[in-house]
Amino acid sequence: ELQFSSAVEVLMSYYPHVKKAIGASEKIFEYVDREPRVPPEGSLAPQEIKGHVHFRNISFAYAKRSDTLVLKGVSLELKPGQMTAVVGPSGGGKSTLVNLLERFYQPKEGDILLDGESLQSYKIQYLHDKISVVSQEPKLFARSLKDNIKYGKEDATNEEVYRAAKLASAHKFISQLPDGYETDAGSKGDKVSGGQKQRIAIARALIRHPKILVLDDATSSLDTETEFQVHQALDNLRKTEKCSVLLIAHRLSAVKQADHIIFLQEGEIKEEGTHDELVQKDGLYAELVRKQNMPFQRNTGVDNEERSS
Ligand code: ATP
Repeated sequence: ELQFSSAVEVLMSYYPHVKKAIGASEKIFEYVDREPRVPPEGSLAPQEIKGHVHFRNISFAYAKRSDTLVLKGVSLELKPGQMTAVVGPSGGGKSTLVNLLERFYQPKEGDILLDGESLQSYKIQYLHDKISVVSQEPKLFARSLKDNIKYGKEDATNEEVYRAAKLASAHKFISQLPDGYETDAGSKGDKVSGGQKQRIAIARALIRHPKILVLDDATSSLDTETEFQVHQALDNLRKTEKCSVLLIAHRLSAVKQADHIIFLQEGEIKEEGTHDELVQKDGLYAELVRKQNMPFQRNTGVDNEERSS
């Protein structure tokens, strides 16, 4: 296993070429630890899709603990132009939903449909092109910020890079750096904060025009202003790009603006609705809100970085 890992590292040093070979996944290191059970792929690769995702009655157990259902009859939809947030205690199954969407595993029961067709009917490479996952701690490569964004699409023009960065609320801070887009994320990487990294990763995802964007939102390290910028980025992109956004949320501040919120606990959907509906309901979500000491008001009327600049 050690040998395989170092082989992967060598390969990754040629990342632009390797990326083409393995698909646009940042998750190569995770593949090493995964159970090699990816089921056969289909041949669907339509030119146009809407990006409507339907998890239909999904039950799932990891092979290592096949007697423990991690998801129990979960149904949810991701709709184009909308943001669905999944919240709930640690171990509830949030990341497992993403693993299934990326087809790292196969549901035990139920099916995941993309535009009405089972995920299994599509080519895996096609799914990886259409689904972008921004991880909790995105990694930047020791190259310019521009190259880091272009990693999502190597033939992108400068205009495409700027557009993606603007949508991700990253253009302004990049432009203000002494070397701008040429800033080296390696030697000058300390100039880029956690929240800025996340926005660069969002830009990297957006430049590919994904139909489905998954954001594993570990914003706990972000200050309020940076976090706000990330949320503005999310707002921008689902309105402008009409993509379906799935937000895996560990903190609630981003969740308030979601079109639909799902409270997942012990593999089951315990509650769902909008922020206001769930607060009204005064159940588990409301309790979580109280614990995180948030006002029960939605944020409105605040301008974002790009519009105000
Ligand atoms: P967190 O908020 O801490 O990220 P989560 O809601 O995303 O948690 P999951 O990571 O989906 O929860 O985990 C759900 C359950 O599945 C947990 O009990 C976890 O221990 C288990 N689990 C997760 N990944 C694996 C794996 N690769 N093999 C076996 N069990 C796993």
